Amino acid sequence: MIVGNDPVLLTPGPLTTSLATKQAMLRDWGSWDAAFNQVTASLRRDLVAIVGGGDEYACVPLQGSGTFSVEAAIGTVVLRTGKVLVPNNGAYCARIVKICKYLGRAVVDLPVPEDRPASAKIVEAALAADPAITHVAQVHCETGAGLLNDLAGIAQVCARMGRGLIVDAMSSFAALPIDVRTVPFDALVAASGKCLEGVPGMGFVLLRKSVLEASAGNAHSLAMDLHDQYVYMEKTTQWRYTPPTHVVAALRAAVDQYLAEGGQPARLARYRTNTETLVAGMQALGFRAYLAPEVQAPIIVTFHAPADPAYDFKTFYTKVRDRGYILYPGKLTTAETFRVGCIGAIDANEMRNVVAAVAEVMREMGIRQVSPALARAA
Ligand SMILES: *Cc1c(COP(=O)(O)O)cnc(C)c1O
Repeated sequence: MIVGNDPVLLTPGPLTTSLATKQAMLRDWGSWDAAFNQVTASLRRDLVAIVGGGDEYACVPLQGSGTFSVEAAIGTVVLRTGKVLVPNNGAYCARIVKICKYLGRAVVDLPVPEDRPASAKIVEAALAADPAITHVAQVHCETGAGLLNDLAGIAQVCARMGRGLIVDAMSSFAALPIDVRTVPFDALVAASGKCLEGVPGMGFVLLRKSVLEASAGNAHSLAMDLHDQYVYMEKTTQWRYTPPTHVVAALRAAVDQYLAEGGQPARLARYRTNTETLVAGMQALGFRAYLAPEVQAPIIVTFHAPADPAYDFKTFYTKVRDRGYILYPGKLTTAETFRVGCIGAIDANEMRNVVAAVAEVMREMGIRQVSPALARAA
């Protein structure tokens, strides 16, 4: 699948894109151009269709990385007097807590161990204990460890208890199944440069129209006001402020390839094969995945760092990169780890090749004791 000599990005965005997606960026578009605005409109329709949103949901794209859209969603949907519950089992959950504090929205930080999913049960208990909570902000796949949270169960609890649900589905959207009929939400945030395999530079929020239309005046920030972006886009077909034209064109090409590949089920199948190939290969070298298989999302895998004193992430990273593969540092507070992404325009061949590269680098660095089991038991 890979064309050219660029290293393969095994990172959860930016990620390796296809040649067709790269080629879609070779044209300059004007923001007033009707053809460009038709591209935006078609993308908005296709992104709503991925969650079966029909006429009840609208897609509001926003310039910037994914975090900009998370911040915009919270600022637009949550009243200034609202209160947000964040089940927190990783770095991206913690980022939402921080966003709420910046925006002056009351927040309840509900700690969950980094290796365990947020469940419907703990969310239900937290909501029952605090009737002032108006919204739950739930990360679907916590990319920090690669953990899958129980989004469907939590969505059902929110619906039953009459609280709003804002989903950070950045690293799961388009790969893991999300359907508004079984996962009802007020807002769901994702971005161009993750499982849709576009290039980074824009996020988008899928919003329940009734919620969106009632949100005028909530936002604390002009640039981050999704209601204003929506009203302007509906009226003029244009983006408010300069659109990331090349990113939009690349995303159009990426979504065309996504649909041609077979949409969400096909993407999930490929990522699953990538994950299984990677984990099996690394296990054969003695590595242990941080998460139990039943909570591991097929997006990014966290491995325990080798216990051998000859190991050092920076050297390991550089030597693997010199063989053509970009790894990702760990993002856990409790264990020394590194991560390998399984998403992007890559398939099982790349996973086999990165395992071979890791084996070579281990020999070169003299790493013999891989499993951290002994060190941990001590
Ligand atoms: C990638 C990601 C984000 C957004 O990160 P940016 O660096 O702003 O693109 C947010 N949440 C999750 C779960 C992610 O994986």
